Amino acid sequence: MSKPTVHIIGSGISGLRCAEIVLDSGLDVKIYEKSERIGGRMKTDIVDGFLLDRGFHVMQTGYPHSISKIDFESLGSEAFSPGTRIIKTVNGRPKITTYSDPFRRPLSSLRLLGSERWSDLIGMAKLRLSLSRMDIKKIFSGGDASTYEYLRQSGLSNSFIDKLLRPLFAGIFLESKLDTNERLFRFIFSSMSRGDMVLPRKGVGAYPNHLAKKIGLERISLSTSAFADDPTTIIINGQRKTVDQVVVAHPPQSEEKSMRMVWTVYFDSPRSPAPGKFLLLNGDYQIGKTAIAHMAVPSDVQPSYAPEGRSLVVATIVGDAADSLNLNNAEAVESRARKEIEQWFPDCKNWKTLDVQHIKAALPSRETGVNLSFSKSIGEDGIITCGDHMTHASMQGAVNSAETAANEAIRRIQN
Ligand SMILES: Cc1cc2nc3c(=O)[nH]c(=O)nc-3n(C[C@H](O)[C@H](O)[C@H](O)COP(=O)(O)OP(=O)(O)OC[C@H]3O[C@@H](n4cnc5c(N)ncnc54)[C@H](O)[C@@H]3O)c2cc1C
Repeated sequence: MSKPTVHIIGSGISGLRCAEIVLDSGLDVKIYEKSERIGGRMKTDIVDGFLLDRGFHVMQTGYPHSISKIDFESLGSEAFSPGTRIIKTVNGRPKITTYSDPFRRPLSSLRLLGSERWSDLIGMAKLRLSLSRMDIKKIFSGGDASTYEYLRQSGLSNSFIDKLLRPLFAGIFLESKLDTNERLFRFIFSSMSRGDMVLPRKGVGAYPNHLAKKIGLERISLSTSAFADDPTTIIINGQRKTVDQVVVAHPPQSEEKSMRMVWTVYFDSPRSPAPGKFLLLNGDYQIGKTAIAHMAVPSDVQPSYAPEGRSLVVATIVGDAADSLNLNNAEAVESRARKEIEQWFPDCKNWKTLDVQHIKAALPSRETGVNLSFSKSIGEDGIITCGDHMTHASMQGAVNSAETAANEAIRRIQN
């Protein structure tokens, strides 16, 4: 007799993690994926021998899921340096300053910051101390203001926020005003002060690929759209079928329209423009005036990202920054990115553009009052649902809800 089976719609990280737990419980799974590849928003393409993640994307070793479940060594992961670099135009010339470790040793590294405001240094140190000890459930309860308000309430000055935290978190939240709920800030900040940002040898798509192999590729039907009608009815190719349990592991189409977007421009350069394993933040970042929030050279961190003797350079342009400058097509985005980069690195005239990506439904919006949760998995219609849209916009958010969804599906089948 065949085992009871959970039918999962979507092969992003949440669908795959849900399947892994269901299989471990002794039940079976079937996964339906509408696109031709697994991984959802965690995919890596190979272009001219370069590894291009779909949008600049890192894995955080400090996430609870990373600590307990991911073997970063077997993924051949390499870490960014814990510090960051800020590039600012001073007297018409670019000036790069390196801060060795603003999240783990704020006092020693941020002493160098131009503003020299001790209140900022102390504010960062206090944040670090309180957030690094905070339990994840507590991080997702309590205050519900915007990140910007939270940072100001924490005693940080506007100039400090603009120089360091805005370009960094604009690239993480994919919005530049820092309207995102303070809970997500607390979570990301605490993860960054606990761990590293890493890139697997085969790109971020390596982790979903690893999970898919573990689950068994024969259990995954690609290029297959599926829909849930109720908790035990699935529609595939127009055929309605009663099954043991359905889990929907993707955001609803209605939500996709309001999700945040990002443009990512990838370049092939003969050499690294700023050698070192740092993220390069735009210290002059200002919505309506500049486009690029940050740049990176992934091949400086993980050499497999570029062919021998070449460097991969990436620039991130958040959707609202692009909109504020009327950059609404790939040519306009590329030309603007080149103009800004040329002021910092005139050599960019010799870089070849590898790709200009426009990721429209990149992250669910999580603004104030939204009550981000630690974990949630049942939609209003009683259908089990998982994904970052159910909790918070990160890989950890996606797996949290997947774990709750899997346990609920198992409970319903076994009861
Ligand atoms: C540019 C970018 C950078 C990011 N950077 C980071 C980062 O640095 N750190 C971090 O933690 N997170 C980051 N994220 C967020 C992280 O990638 C997501 O939170 C996570 O991948 C979401 O996984 P998911 O399973 O919830 O959804 P998805 O990955 O969207 O998966 C849903 C899947 O369902 C499929 N699907 C949809 N409808 C159907 C249907 N009807 N039938 C069958 N299949 C269907 C889709 O094709 C897709 O494969 C980033 C995201 C983007 C876009």
